[in-house]
Amino acid sequence: MSFAKHTDLPPGLTPHALYFDNAATTPLAPEALGVMMPFLSDRFGNPSAIYSQGIDARYAVEKARRRVARAIGAREGEIIFTASGSESDNLAIKGTFLARRHRGMHVISCTTEHSAVLNTLEALSDFGAEVTLIDVGESGVIDPDDVARAIRDDTVLITVMFANSETGVIHPIAEIARVARERGVVFHCDAVQSVGKEPIDVETLGVDLLSLSGHKIHGPKGGAALYVRRGVEIQPIIHGGNQEGGLRAGTENVPAIAGLGAALELAEALRPAEMPRLRALGDWIIERLQRSINGVQLCGDPAHRLATILCLTIEGIEGARLVSLAGEEGISIAAGSACSAGGLAPSHVLTAMGLPMGRVSGGIRISLGRENTDAAVDHLIAKLPLLVRALREGTPRDGR
Ligand SMILES: *Cc1c(COP(=O)(O)O)cnc(C)c1O
Repeated sequence: MSFAKHTDLPPGLTPHALYFDNAATTPLAPEALGVMMPFLSDRFGNPSAIYSQGIDARYAVEKARRRVARAIGAREGEIIFTASGSESDNLAIKGTFLARRHRGMHVISCTTEHSAVLNTLEALSDFGAEVTLIDVGESGVIDPDDVARAIRDDTVLITVMFANSETGVIHPIAEIARVARERGVVFHCDAVQSVGKEPIDVETLGVDLLSLSGHKIHGPKGGAALYVRRGVEIQPIIHGGNQEGGLRAGTENVPAIAGLGAALELAEALRPAEMPRLRALGDWIIERLQRSINGVQLCGDPAHRLATILCLTIEGIEGARLVSLAGEEGISIAAGSACSAGGLAPSHVLTAMGLPMGRVSGGIRISLGRENTDAAVDHLIAKLPLLVRALREGTPRDGR
């Protein structure tokens, strides 16, 4: 495999601008890096210490907590910092299961959830959890009535993501939360892909637990959080010191936490202008690709979709092969989920939506972010049709 060198790119295009895999991770915002840097050098204190270096670090952690709480309409005491969105999902699901298993062991989720949820549920089934996964149709949207019907007397937790990370499809979270609350079931929402992109207010939504992660919103890897509604009981899964209200032991990752707070505040400030910009770019990409390549279809309900994620299926090609050809041109896109792209496993999300195998294998994901410019999108929509033609004709392309 070869990679396009910076100097090979057309004038005005940077590698960041041609990075269209923002649902996998995002480039760190310079503003977040700026906030982090002092805590990677001089300001090294342990936030639990009560002399000046410790107090300084504690102040940074608590400032970030206020920023995260404000961004999602929560109170400061309801934010638990973790090391990843996956950890937040694990803490929410295992923590609720441990705290409530005397009341029942039934958990409800959805077939199209992220692996951080699905594999956690599978692990819990070894400990007696009974899991019902709700099906979705071709729209990819979960029906709250299906959730209501699945609730049993021993149901203790419902976990449904805000928006799908492969298709961008948005679920009716407030409706599901209402159903859960009526039946006294704790409701967790994995909003890792959605925070900073959609208006998310834990009171309006009525969720009990909500996961978010910094590196999906131009923040650092290693800085993430779980919202835990006051009064909702969960058990820790990492034991040790009394950090994070006893719910997550371990010395806080101060730089990552500070970076998360700054990145989320910035994402919220930019959101009103940025999301319409990205939605227009996304619509432009779909329109152009459908015109220049035959057999291109958008996956999932177009009316309920994040501005940042386009999942397309392209007839007669392997999505993974297109991804690798595009990569040689310096263009980063994805095929299915990141994990399945590595192992070439068909996307569990597109499969669960009932798409025929032929469409599933031709799936690609283009996910937009702050650094994608008009010029970069023009480059993308000029290149992809050529690469698709090369794949369809099955002939090796001439050198560039
Ligand atoms: C990325 C992602 C996760 C995992 O977050 P990490 O911080 O990478 O562990 C979980 N859920 C969704 C929906 C995601 O997009």
